[in-house]
Amino acid sequence: MPFRKPQHKRGADTGFEGLEILLVEDSRPYTAALMQRLEVDYGMKVTSCQTLELLASALEDKPERFALSLIDLNLPGTPAGEALDLVLAKNVPAIVFTASFSDLRRKQVLTKHIADYVLKDGQNAIENLVKATIRILSNRDSHVLVVDGSAAMRDMLSEQLLRQLYRVTAVGSGRQALEILDESNEFDLALITHLMPEMNGLTLVEQIRHRGELDDMRIVGVSSLEDRSLTARFLRAGANDFLQQPLVIEEFRWRVAQNVQITGQIRELRELASRDYLTGIYNRRHFFESGPRKVALNRKHGRGQALAIVDIDHFKLINDTYGHEVGDVVLKAVASQLNKYCGQSHLLSRMGGEEFGILISDCSFADARRFCEFIRYAMEMLPITTDDGNVKITVSIGLAEIADQETFDNYLNAADQFLYMAKNAGRNCVFSEADLAVRAVA
Ligand code: GH3
Ligand code: MG
Ligand code: MG
Repeated sequence: MPFRKPQHKRGADTGFEGLEILLVEDSRPYTAALMQRLEVDYGMKVTSCQTLELLASALEDKPERFALSLIDLNLPGTPAGEALDLVLAKNVPAIVFTASFSDLRRKQVLTKHIADYVLKDGQNAIENLVKATIRILSNRDSHVLVVDGSAAMRDMLSEQLLRQLYRVTAVGSGRQALEILDESNEFDLALITHLMPEMNGLTLVEQIRHRGELDDMRIVGVSSLEDRSLTARFLRAGANDFLQQPLVIEEFRWRVAQNVQITGQIRELRELASRDYLTGIYNRRHFFESGPRKVALNRKHGRGQALAIVDIDHFKLINDTYGHEVGDVVLKAVASQLNKYCGQSHLLSRMGGEEFGILISDCSFADARRFCEFIRYAMEMLPITTDDGNVKITVSIGLAEIADQETFDNYLNAADQFLYMAKNAGRNCVFSEADLAVRAVA
C-alpha cells in the first residue's frame, strides 16, 4: 500500500501541487497571507476574486477546474451570501469563513452544501483556514463505507460526506458490507447504523472485528435508539466511536474527521513498520502478515497462484570482492527491478539478506514459471553501476505452485527446497516441481 497521506513539506511533493483553489475575499492583506501559505508552501494555484463580478467571470470558464473554494461570507454587497450560492450552483466545493457568526447565520450556512466553515477571528484565523483546506483536500484520499438500512438516511450520510470530499460507498445491509470488505481493505472508516434488516449493526461490527483483518479501519456506530447501553455494546464489539441520532452536523463532521485521521496515522506507522530499511520494498514481516490473506482471497476466487524465492548467487563473493557498500547497492538495484516487474499484481518482499519472496497471483503455473524465467534472465542482463565499476549478478529461483490447502509456511518451505535444488543444479536457474520430474527421468 502506498503512503496515503501527503507529507506537508514546503514547495514540491506536498501532494497538493497544481490544485486550483478559488479564493473570494476582499481584504488584500488576508488574501496575500493565504496565497503565501497555499501557493508557496503547498504549491497550489490560487485564483483570487475580490468582488462578486470577478467571481462570476472566474466561474464562467470550466468551474470544475477548482478543487475547492474559500468564501468570505461578508463580502461587501453580498448580504445574503451570494458568493457562496454562486460557487455552489457551479458544484465547486466550498469552505466558508466569516468574522461574524450568529446562531441564525450558522443555521443558514449549515443548510447549504458546504464542506466546512471557519471563524475568522483571532491570530490563528489564517492557520485555521489553511488547516481546514488541507483537511478537506486530504479527504479525497479517504474512503468511507456507509452501512444503513434506510435509503433516506444512507443518502443523507453519504451526501454529508461527499460534501467534505470523502470517497463514499453506501450499502443497505450487513451482508453487502461484508462482501465489500472481503474485496477491499482500503476503507478508512465504516459508519454502521444499528437498526437494519437481517443483521443489526452490532452484529456486523462483531463480524468485521472477528475477521481481524481490518483492525486498522475505524468503525463508528450510529443509532437513534434511546438505549444508552448500546454505545457501550458497540464499543465492546469493536467500534471506535458512536454517534447518536439525530446528528449534530458539526459533531458528525469532527468525529468522522478525527477517526479518519487516526486511521491515516495508524496506516502510516504500519507502512513504515512493513518496509525494509535498505531497499524500501516490503519486509519479511509484511510478507507473512499479508501473504496468507492474499492466498486465501486468490483461493476463494479460483485464481492461480505460486510462491517464488529469488536468491542472488554467490552474493557473499560480491561483498568479499567489492565490500559491503557495493553489496548494498546491488541489493537495492535488484529490489528496485523486482519491484518494477511485480507492480501491484504480485506481493514482493525482502525475506532477509539477499533473498526475496514473491507471491505470484492470478496466474497459471505455466505463466508463473515464465515470469520467474523472465526475472532470472533480466537479472543476468541487469547492468549494476557502482563506484567500483559495473557488477554482474545472477539469481536462482525456487518456485512452488499453490494449488491445494497447505499453509503459507508449507508453500514457502517448498519454494525454499526448490531454491536449494536450483543452487545444486548449478545456479542461475529456476527450479520447481516440474523440474524435479524432468530431472528424475533424465
Ligand atoms: P549462494 O549462491 O549459495 O546463495 O551463496 P551466497 O554467497 O549468495 O549466500 P550466503 O548465504 O553464503 O551469503 C549471503 C551473504 O549476504 C552473507 C551476508 O553477509 C550478506 N548479506 C546479508 N545481508 C546483507 C546486507 O544487507 N548487505 C550486504 N552488503 N550484505 C548482506
Ligand atoms: Mg545467495
Ligand atoms: Mg541466501
